[in-house]
Amino acid sequence: MSTNQLKEALDTLKESGVRITPQRHAILEYLINAMSHPTADEIYKALEGKFPNMSVATVYNNLRVFREVGLVKELTYGDSSSRFDFVTNDHYHAICEDCGKIVDFAYPGLNEVEQFASHVSGFNVSHHRLEIYGVCPDCAAKKSH
Ligand SMILES: [Zn+2]
Ligand SMILES: [Zn+2]
Repeated sequence: MSTNQLKEALDTLKESGVRITPQRHAILEYLINAMSHPTADEIYKALEGKFPNMSVATVYNNLRVFREVGLVKELTYGDSSSRFDFVTNDHYHAICEDCGKIVDFAYPGLNEVEQFASHVSGFNVSHHRLEIYGVCPDCAAKKSH
């Protein structure tokens, strides 16, 4: 699955006129395989062995390019550590309050909520964000020991 996603992502970059550098290729590949909503810092640490001249700022700039062409979503949580999500389809997030892990889950049908919100508020709705908070199975297991 990931090779197809990578190919499609690279095609999107080409169509948008974005140059595909080895670093951009590696960052995309990491995002697709990680499934962990990494921070720019985590991506940097994972790839610094491969690209010794790359800085966190470079990673961040590349992520911004990906965001502009719609390949990644930036999830901000009010602090400096934005997390980056490779955009596949509409999905929601369950977030662990103990370790901060973010897990994807798919759930259909919330477009109705957007329509309703638009109807009652008069807003031109662009998107919505739903997050479920709790304790992940790993943390729950640690606690019970
Ligand atoms: Zn946890
Ligand atoms: Zn996600």
